[in-house]
Order: sequence, then C-alpha cells, then structure tokens
Amino acid sequence: MKNLCPLGRVVLFSVYRKARCKVIVNKLVVGPFASNCYIVGAESNREGMIVDPGAEAKQILNRVKDLELDVKSIFLTHGHIDHIAALKEVKEATGAEVAIHADDAKSLHSRSLATIFGLSFPPSPPPDKLLKGGDTIDIGDLHFLVLHTPGHTPGGICLFGHGVVFSGDTLFNYGIGRTDLPGGSYNQLMDSIHTKLMVLADDTIVYPGHGSDTTIGTERSGNPFLHSPTL
Ligand SMILES: [Zn+2]
Ligand SMILES: [Zn+2]
Repeated sequence: MKNLCPLGRVVLFSVYRKARCKVIVNKLVVGPFASNCYIVGAESNREGMIVDPGAEAKQILNRVKDLELDVKSIFLTHGHIDHIAALKEVKEATGAEVAIHADDAKSLHSRSLATIFGLSFPPSPPPDKLLKGGDTIDIGDLHFLVLHTPGHTPGGICLFGHGVVFSGDTLFNYGIGRTDLPGGSYNQLMDSIHTKLMVLADDTIVYPGHGSDTTIGTERSGNPFLHSPTL
C-alpha cells in the first residue's frame, strides 16, 4: 500500500482491525443490464446495508426479509441508472439512509442516461449522506472504508472492509469500467485502480457491479487491461 498517504494507511489498518465479525454478502443479479446488487449484513446482530439497488425492488426486499436483516443504509457505488433504479422503492420499504459520493449526487436527478438507453424509472430520492474518499462506514459490526475511484464516473466509489471490496463499475473480473460515458476518464480510471485497489491484499474478494466475483490477486496477475502495453 505504498501509494496511500499516511492518513489513508492508518484508516485502512483501523478498518482491518475493526472488521473482524463474520459478514454475509448476498448477491442478486437485477435488471436489463444484469447489475449486481449486494445485500450485506453482520451475522452478529443482523444489521445490514445494500449496495446498488439497480432494479427489481421486490426481489431485493424479499431477499432482505429471507436473510432477516435490518437494513440501515443504501450505498451507491455511482449514479448510473443500472445501479439506482430500485432506490426509491427500497428506501421507502426499509427506511434506510441513502449515501453516494458528492460528485455523483446530481446523477440521481439526471434522466439523461435513462433517456439514452430508452428506460424509465421512478425519480430517485435525494441522498441523505454525501460521501468522500477516506470516510469510514460503521453500521453496528460492519466497518467499511470509502475509496474514491473516479474514472467510470467522477463520483465512483469502492467500499473496502472485512476482506472484501465492492468495486462498482471500476473493476470487473478480467475487465474495467467503460470510460466513454459523460464524466468518464480512462486515465483517471487506471489511476484509481492502481492506487486504490491494487494496493489491497491479493486475497481480497472483489464484488463488482457486473459479472462474477474475483480477487485482487487474480486481477493483478491476469486482468488484461492492467497489463496493456500502452500503460
Ligand atoms: Zn456505471
Ligand atoms: Zn453498471
């Protein structure tokens, strides 16, 4: 983790130390873009959070009920429609607070991407909390660190804790997020991946916004986009 500033290093170790409880990570693949929605909970007290309620609110809420979780927060890895379309219904049903990076907050009200893709969805509620890189999330026994990873969108984030990282559309199994949508930047995305994700331990499980789970070590050694001759 040589690229983290001293403060970042201290926070990272503190998240490692606190994140000892057993965590449930339950994945649902939702909507026309096959987005991954993650329901995360602490086994100790059943308090939980949802990452990216991208579509199919009823399915998400049924899974929360099956897992007997009390959802306190909803985190959005970024503001694209395929990660937020079920936000209104899931927030109303759970009463959870909605958190997104400040630089993507305006996407919640933007209909431009929905229009581009010809989709309609109910207006999203405003965020309750604006995040920034380095913020720590403490929900009962759940402890995560917010990593600001711009490049796919300006306010893209990854959440790291308990030996896992939710990587949104920043890093995929043998892939990276697209950078051709409004606010995207290839150079920023590569910088985010190298300085915020590739500093994590090899055995960190990566839960991406689309596709299958992977690990930091698998991507470090085999992701073709991280070994491009143009870098
Ligand atoms: Zn996206
Ligand atoms: Zn996506």
